[in-house]
Amino acid sequence: MRRLWFAWAWLDGDWRENVAVAIDDAGRIAEVETGVSPAGSEAVPGIALPGLPNLHSHGFQRAMAGLAERGQRPGEDFWSWRHVMYRTANEFDPDEIEAVTAMAYVEMLEAGFTAVAEFHYLHHDKDGTPYANRVELAGRIVAAARASGIGLTLLPCLYSAGGIGRVAEPGQRRFINDIDGFCRLHEETASMLRSEMPGAALGVAPHSLRAARPEDVARIAALFPAGPIHCHAAEQVAEVDDCVAALGARPVEWLLDHAGVDARWCLIHATHMGASETEAMARSGAVAGLCPLTEADLGDGIFDGARFLESGGRFGIGSDSLIRIDAAAELRQLDGSQRLRDRRRVVLSPNGSAGTALYAGALRGGAQALNLPVGAIAPGARADIVVLDRDGTDLAALPPGFWLDQFVFVGGSKLIDRVYAAGRVVVEQGRHVAREAAVARFRPVLRRLAAAL
Ligand SMILES: [Zn+2]
Repeated sequence: MRRLWFAWAWLDGDWRENVAVAIDDAGRIAEVETGVSPAGSEAVPGIALPGLPNLHSHGFQRAMAGLAERGQRPGEDFWSWRHVMYRTANEFDPDEIEAVTAMAYVEMLEAGFTAVAEFHYLHHDKDGTPYANRVELAGRIVAAARASGIGLTLLPCLYSAGGIGRVAEPGQRRFINDIDGFCRLHEETASMLRSEMPGAALGVAPHSLRAARPEDVARIAALFPAGPIHCHAAEQVAEVDDCVAALGARPVEWLLDHAGVDARWCLIHATHMGASETEAMARSGAVAGLCPLTEADLGDGIFDGARFLESGGRFGIGSDSLIRIDAAAELRQLDGSQRLRDRRRVVLSPNGSAGTALYAGALRGGAQALNLPVGAIAPGARADIVVLDRDGTDLAALPPGFWLDQFVFVGGSKLIDRVYAAGRVVVEQGRHVAREAAVARFRPVLRRLAAAL
């Protein structure tokens, strides 16, 4: 048992002073005491926050960050970006996928994300045949997570089609499974996780109504009766139009009516919804998996956060395409998109600190979506703690009520000094302890990809 002591920690939505946190050998928090002296504890300088869950990641995409920002023709959009993504996906062997994913996870920890939900659709070998070990690539994600220390919810993705009622394209060959093949893959993933990373959670991810057959999405909760269910929905207007044409309903509307969407579900993006759809999704208890930096980069559109939160909706944040890995910047972009649209300020928290409301909301929704004991400094939780530097920054001059606004809107990840993941120090002075090793493996992969694209 280790005992850490912080002058300040954010506990259950409040700043508390003189906080001792006891951590057991499994990396879980055993006890939290407030108003105690540092005697008998390891005193940690700085301000302790629960680490944020990252509810949406495609690890291999880290390699293409910044490589698809050059216009080739007028009218570049999500769909042209997706061609670059497919070429990237088809380029890598298992070692390279592990190297790229490990780099992403190292950067997540440096940026304040201490657990990640990996939405994993890259299953097969480059020619589309399953590996002899069907879960070869899932195993590489687990290896990357273990090397970095990040908490993991693995979401094997069911991807069967190239659009509603359309066969898959050649570029999608590494993703494709029919429902029977997928059930087998899922079972083998479960058994691999039990041996390789017993603390990880397992869920399931029907990719979207465009890439999984709607009849399979409708029964996914019954087929997989435990664990979170993540599904992309309504990211692009063209996808909404296709769905209306094929199924007579908008994607979120269809999912709410046919798939039993409830608190097990996390709908990724949910960008394009009508007012009543937004309110119905909020009532369902599902988490809106918002990826504001990616949504801005891809030109997706603006999620109606104001209406969704007013209706009691739950949200979390994800870094999706990994164009930039930064928890505070995601929250700032979410808030900023509402301000730009409405030409108003502090739209998402009319009654108090926006930084606090955003951070608290993303902790709660993220923990729900990951189905892991994360998102709080509390007994039973993974000891995932982000320590902000207080003395070297503006924070020292300000009372605690301003600290999360400073983190989200002003200082961001450069305020992060140390990060504990499951009780272990993984980031020291803002740098991951395994950064150098990760960079050494990542750089040759990036060099090769940049030459190949
Ligand atoms: Zn995604």
